[in-house]
Amino acid sequence: MIFRAHLGDCRWDETPVLAYKQDGTTTFRHVTKQILFEGGQMEFQWRYFEVAPGGYSSLERHEHEHAVMVVRGKGRALVGDEVYDIRLYDLILVPPMTWHQFQPTGDEPLGFLCIVNAQRDRPQLPGHADLEMLRRNPEVAAFIRL
Ligand code: MN
Repeated sequence: MIFRAHLGDCRWDETPVLAYKQDGTTTFRHVTKQILFEGGQMEFQWRYFEVAPGGYSSLERHEHEHAVMVVRGKGRALVGDEVYDIRLYDLILVPPMTWHQFQPTGDEPLGFLCIVNAQRDRPQLPGHADLEMLRRNPEVAAFIRL
């Protein structure tokens, strides 16, 4: 499909709003996903994620990278050992094997575009030793949700 109109509020024509993850292994809250572009010659997938107030994406890491741009609301993002305040049009690169989690702040959803490799490894979730390591940083300890 060549053209899909924006319908308002970061919804697009003919683009289903999907459950974030369906494998039942990760913990997250109030997150939706839309796949904007994939397939053909493209070796990437371009997605739009939205995290409603009070929600959070899963705390995870993996070999593939994320290229992220905030396009709705504001929030905070854990990338590695640092928590960043993120706002409209900010860019976030999640490098390989780097713990990450996104959360909205305020009463508006946090929406962001995210490009990934079409072929990619499965996310890893933190074990006890990983959580212990992450929680050595008090700011990270206060931020993460499981
Ligand atoms: Mn990820």
